[in-house]
Amino acid sequence: EVAQTGDNSGQDLVLSHVTKRFSDFVAVDDLSLTIPAGSFFALLGPSGCGKTTTLRMVAGLEQPSSGTISIGGRDVTSLPSHQREVNTVFQSYALFPHMSILDNVSFGLKRRRVRNPDAMAKEALEMVELGHLAARKPVQLSGGQQQRVALARALVNRPAVLLLDEPLGALDMKLRRQMQVELKAIQTDVGLTFIHVTHDQEEAMTMADTVAVMNKGRVEQMGDPRELYELPRTAFVANFLGKSNLMRGPITEDLGDAVAVDVSGVRVVLPKSRSAAHAGSAVVGVRPEKMRILDIDDAAYSPTANQLVGRVVDASFTGIITEYIVDVPGVGMVGTFSQNLGQRPAAPGERVRLLWEPEFSFGLPGDEEPAEG
Ligand code: ATP
Repeated sequence: EVAQTGDNSGQDLVLSHVTKRFSDFVAVDDLSLTIPAGSFFALLGPSGCGKTTTLRMVAGLEQPSSGTISIGGRDVTSLPSHQREVNTVFQSYALFPHMSILDNVSFGLKRRRVRNPDAMAKEALEMVELGHLAARKPVQLSGGQQQRVALARALVNRPAVLLLDEPLGALDMKLRRQMQVELKAIQTDVGLTFIHVTHDQEEAMTMADTVAVMNKGRVEQMGDPRELYELPRTAFVANFLGKSNLMRGPITEDLGDAVAVDVSGVRVVLPKSRSAAHAGSAVVGVRPEKMRILDIDDAAYSPTANQLVGRVVDASFTGIITEYIVDVPGVGMVGTFSQNLGQRPAAPGERVRLLWEPEFSFGLPGDEEPAEG
């Protein structure tokens, strides 16, 4: 059954307590989430975390061991793939080489005897701005254009939900960045729900309205990209989305709307509104770009700032910025950078001061392991 209208409003996708076991291995563990109709949703996580398995269950290519999946209030858990209003774009887009672009896109429609297949295919190709190349064969297109044909082939069915499984994985970096912007523009244009699976954090953050970070079959945190980046709730999320410096210590003072944490003898202030830990111990996190690196004798002193003193271990000039690794006694290696504004860069061996305002930190529970991203 093919939906003939473009109006998919109210077609929220709901996963409720979805678990997938492969014999005794749990690939997806009690996953519950609601993806509002018309949103661009990214499932982000490292290899093996269960992203593809989740997508395949939504597509109907895999059956959940337990739990339900519904689209627009309709339970589709046990419906076969072709009875769900869902289409998938894979990384390997496998176009028919001997057919024109137009025929590639209209092929499925013709097989299902849908009326006006060529007009619908043409319209889908216009959406991805390839209408003018409809008569060409796949070999006559660039990689990015072929990817857009694969997208048109999925869009032509007017699914309620479009699933994208690492669709840009085969493209080189430059084309990949360009296609990220284009895909986002197409999604905004057609207003369908896109669910995008990727292990590339920058890709997820640039494209998606909502990102769910998956780890070991579970969603660790879900939210808009900025919120996830600024206020990660676990060490895994903090490290998977960019870099962060994590410092552990006991909470020694309650300052009302903040707490003070003793990080190896240094008093660090952490706002309660930015922390999951208000008593006991905490892990204080700071993104490298939120710190300033100053000469040890620098007079640019801020009375409210937290500060650490350490010795530069490494300074790498990268053009726009210089990246530093600073060894802070009792804390370990801290990463930061400075804009190259003409000042003398700090050299390895030099003692420096690292400053950051308390509201630039985030606080995790003290038992969070500093997991690798
Ligand atoms: P990748 O980015 O590498 O594709 P992913 O996050 O998409 O990773 P999945 O493909 O969903 O991960 O796999 C999750 C886990 O389930 C993996 O450990 C994988 O080995 C396992 N798995 C997936 N499919 C099967 C299967 N058919 N039989 C047994 N184990 C499976």
